[in-house]
Amino acid sequence: MRIDLHAHSNISDGTQPPAELVAAAAAARLDVLALTDHDSTDGWTEALAAARVHGVGLLPGMEISCKTRQGISVHLLCYLHDPANPALLEEITRAKEARMTRAERMVERLAEDYPLNWDDVSAHLAPGATVGRPHIADALVAAGIVADRNEAFAGILTSRSRYFVSHYAADPALAVELVRDAGGVPVFAHPMASARGRVAPPEVFHDMVDAGLLGLEVDHRDNPPEGRAWLRKFARDCGLFTTGSSDFHGRGKPNLLGENLTDPAALESILAAASGSAPYLP
Ligand code: AMP
Ligand code: ZN
Ligand code: FE
Ligand code: FE
Repeated sequence: MRIDLHAHSNISDGTQPPAELVAAAAAARLDVLALTDHDSTDGWTEALAAARVHGVGLLPGMEISCKTRQGISVHLLCYLHDPANPALLEEITRAKEARMTRAERMVERLAEDYPLNWDDVSAHLAPGATVGRPHIADALVAAGIVADRNEAFAGILTSRSRYFVSHYAADPALAVELVRDAGGVPVFAHPMASARGRVAPPEVFHDMVDAGLLGLEVDHRDNPPEGRAWLRKFARDCGLFTTGSSDFHGRGKPNLLGENLTDPAALESILAAASGSAPYLP
């Protein structure tokens, strides 16, 4: 079984519509894909329909933007929650709106030094999509200021850049609780991705576990080997399952579908714990 539980469509910062992403999953010989756009479930219906056409399993999911008290960015994957749950919906709507204001402010700052305006960014944004720095990167690429998203993230758009603006995001333990209350299965995404900024200290992991965290994304290209070993031990000690995933973003990132895979036993744990919505499994 080839199971990849983390991928983005153009409902957030991937480059393909959900149906195309599912077709790409079929072409990559995946048995199960999870659609995990940032702070949005708007791609679920299209992805589930495409999954039936292609005979690929589909786990509807999401990646929630969170931030700790210390200001450390945490991403929380969740699967099979009720997309209409009011409390969770309110929280992701708040994050999504804050992302929009923040992106506009970053573009204002960039416009002082570069020939760039909001229209250049929105040209790379599907209607209603969750905006992120990758869309600003696309505008910088189109303007010939950088060669690709990677170069943008390595310089102009890093969290240490003078153009960087942060945005509101939920406390990770609160997000875990909201996901569980919505019948979903919360999994800490790329917890050791140090290249993106500071990683969460152990107390944040413990707070999330106490709130009902069920899994850790261990096999992800941004988790270094020492970090993965620590995560595996932590998962064993706390009774969490572990996953492996690509975090595919279409042409927006070098990550390839299926480059990391999840054990079928972890998928079984997810299916057993979920009660908010249904997957498509052929
Ligand atoms: P934001 O959430 O707007 O702060 O932007 C961070 C998002 O950009 C993450 O979710 C990543 O998926 C994406 N990202 C981070 N680094 C890169 C990179 N080097 N190239 C393309 N996308 C990236
Ligand atoms: Zn992303
Ligand atoms: Fe992420
Ligand atoms: Fe992601």
